[in-house]
Amino acid sequence: MSDCLFCRIVAREIPSTKVFEDERIYAFEDILPQAPTHVLVVPKKHYVNVHDASEDAGLLGELVTRSAAIAREKGAPDFRLVTNSGVLGGQAVFHLHFHVLGGRQMRWPPG
Ligand code: 5GP
Ligand code: ZN
Repeated sequence: MSDCLFCRIVAREIPSTKVFEDERIYAFEDILPQAPTHVLVVPKKHYVNVHDASEDAGLLGELVTRSAAIAREKGAPDFRLVTNSGVLGGQAVFHLHFHVLGGRQMRWPPG
């Protein structure tokens, strides 16, 4: 999707700070970090959100396990993993992504 921000980041049309990459996943630093560790983990294939990707359980599993590995590698084994879905869910970029947040005490509930 040429008009999708994260597709353009995956395609290197927009610069980002890479954290991890393989055939199916790209991970990069959030531009507006909400914690000392704030990494976005996205599939290279465009899915809108977890609903859209529900038939690709293998990919969803990879995204979660890779997110945990990234948290550990970033020195934040205690971390929060968030995926916002839909406008009411707080989603602003409509390309599936997981937020890996860590490096400080996380509070509940979020705002
Ligand atoms: P959402 O609200 O959709 O779950 O999260 C979107 C995230 O993307 C936000 O945390 C925001 O800071 C991040 N973001 C928005 N635009 C850019 C960008 O151009 N580059 C990077 N690295 N992150 C972005
Ligand atoms: Zn996209």
